[in-house]
Amino acid sequence: MKINILTLFPDMFAPLRESMIGRAEENGIIEFNIINFRDYTSDKHNRVDDTPFGGGAGMVLQVQPIMSVVKASNLTGKFIYMSPRGKVLDKNIAEELSRLDEITILCGHYEGVDQRVLDELSAEEISIGDYVLTGGELPAMVLIDCVSRFIDGVLASDESAVEESVYSGLLEHPHYTKPREIIGREVPEVLVSGNHQLIDLWRFEESLRLTKARRPDLFESFLNSGREFSKQERKVIDKILQEK
Ligand code: SAM
Repeated sequence: MKINILTLFPDMFAPLRESMIGRAEENGIIEFNIINFRDYTSDKHNRVDDTPFGGGAGMVLQVQPIMSVVKASNLTGKFIYMSPRGKVLDKNIAEELSRLDEITILCGHYEGVDQRVLDELSAEEISIGDYVLTGGELPAMVLIDCVSRFIDGVLASDESAVEESVYSGLLEHPHYTKPREIIGREVPEVLVSGNHQLIDLWRFEESLRLTKARRPDLFESFLNSGREFSKQERKVIDKILQEK
């Protein structure tokens, strides 16, 4: 997948070169094309923003530099504008985007971007949550990380993008690793029992308990999702439902 990023702060994208996303780029699975649209301004003082028509606080990113990049770099396909006004990013949006060959992400700043850019590019607005950040760079990185996990070859072969908290319908159970005892705390006995059926049930129970306590909305949807539960899973569900 090719990901074009239009930003005034290209250096902020250094984290994409680390870890799994960095490896995916090295392996040619993802290609980043990070463009500073200030380089395309025709303003002699290098400005890319101006005051809003109608008055009010803050500055608005102008049409010219952004549309000049789009033309010069021949950017076509899906345009995304990171924006608190957008649809809130979730698994479905990420999975859908991961199927595309090329996307272009526009990072806003100040009060945002002139509406005519968004209309001209039919940009989809995506938010990363109901709060406001100073710029679209961090939201863009959140989106890219989230989308990348659905692209074949980005995760190690034994990892699954959908067996994680939330995606599976539940929050994930606790994890433990070696040593078996440390700081006066032991690993739950069942995890060293070697009985995989019991381990799976224990994990299911812990996931249910956590989800019920922390995300009652997810817990309700999980129970009403129409999935089939085994007799043993049913027992676990009844036990959790009876807990205060
Ligand atoms: N005036 C805008 C509004 O009220 O919708 C907010 C502008 S914000 C200070 C500057 C830029 O940060 C936005 O143009 C957007 O690109 C980015 N941004 C801020 N919060 C965001 C969020 N929750 N999700 C995605 N992008 C966000």
